[in-house]
Amino acid sequence: HEVGDKLLVEVARRIRAAVREQDTVARLGGDEFAVVLEGVSEAKEVLPVIERIIDSLAEVTTIGGHEINSSTSVGIAMFPENGSNLSELLRAADLAMYQAKSSGRGRYQFFADAMQEEAQSRHALEWALRRATERGEFQLVYQPQICLRTGRVIGVEALLRWMNPTRGLLTPYHFIAGLEEFGLINEVGEWVLQTACEQVRSWHDIELEPMRIGVNVSAQQFEDPMLIDKIRGALKETKLPPEFLEIELTESCLMSDPREAGALLRELRQVGVRIAIDDFGTGYSSLTYLHDFPLNALKIDKNFVQSVEANDRGGPIANMIVGLGKNLGLDVVAEGVETEGQLEYVRNHGCDIAQGYLYARPEAPETM
Ligand code: C2E
Ligand code: CA
Ligand code: CA
Repeated sequence: HEVGDKLLVEVARRIRAAVREQDTVARLGGDEFAVVLEGVSEAKEVLPVIERIIDSLAEVTTIGGHEINSSTSVGIAMFPENGSNLSELLRAADLAMYQAKSSGRGRYQFFADAMQEEAQSRHALEWALRRATERGEFQLVYQPQICLRTGRVIGVEALLRWMNPTRGLLTPYHFIAGLEEFGLINEVGEWVLQTACEQVRSWHDIELEPMRIGVNVSAQQFEDPMLIDKIRGALKETKLPPEFLEIELTESCLMSDPREAGALLRELRQVGVRIAIDDFGTGYSSLTYLHDFPLNALKIDKNFVQSVEANDRGGPIANMIVGLGKNLGLDVVAEGVETEGQLEYVRNHGCDIAQGYLYARPEAPETM
């Protein structure tokens, strides 16, 4: 904290040195500062000042022997075009600042009307997703996974859908990022776990051959300290034996902090659920950790599966993943299998399980 405080003081000093006598510098809170540049008639007049600020803050700061690198993102709002009062101007500058931030370090960005629209449509999405969560507008569809040795369905993957009252049935592409951004993913994820376990449990009750259920867990859910309890809760309430639940995690979710991830995976293993790495091959995996993680399956990303027939790198990469998975003693699942040719290829190269439109699209339980 002490270093942080000193850094803020130094940042303020540098900003003041970069602006002109008549300008105003204020700290808004946290690491956010505001600068009021007075007597500016044209937008381009502010640029030399902005560049001075960005450059001076990019210089290394030494505090108590620590060398600190920092970078700045600047959002610019013009009066009166972008707002007629202080709060409108600050909001516009803030939106522009976030835009600058997302385009990289040390950038600036002028406010544009497009941002206003985006902010408004994001507001609308947030409101709609909150309502959807409260009213239960989400549904699960299920896609079978086929054992290539026996030809039997050995499991299904649960995939989330949103029945939007105006736009109809939406795939996760339209809303998962929103659920994460607005902090709703954990609540919806808990519902997914509960509903998926319940569904497969009801199939167990009527069918002879019990199948597994795959549930996707996003990086944010993986960081939820209550995740293990939620999984335990869902299993307990639905009386589903844990070995029938397979949690699907992506490489990036495991590899951002592999030590922590490893500890959590071992806890999951203790609960008795299976663990699969999803979209394997699209992120990057440390092979050391891969070896140490208690895994059960690798799912080859559909992009590789879909290019195995074409004369490119899909085949060799798919082969490598199968080899890696097999050598680690894991089940290897080919997802996104759409053609007989792809199926033949992945079967001949040692995949254990296949999933894709060739067999079935994800469907609601009542139509399966
Ligand atoms: P994923 O886990 O990689 O799921 C596979 C996606 O491929 C699904 O898309 C599925 O419908 C699609 N697919 C299956 N077979 C084929 C095929 O033969 N060809 C092609 N082109 N596509 C196929 P979907 O349902 O749109 O889901 C997209 C992603 O959203 C999922 O990718 C997963 O990452 C995420 N997701 C889905 N449900 C949940 C959920 O309950 N929780 C979380 N956190 N994420 C979810
Ligand atoms: Ca998946
Ligand atoms: Ca996948």
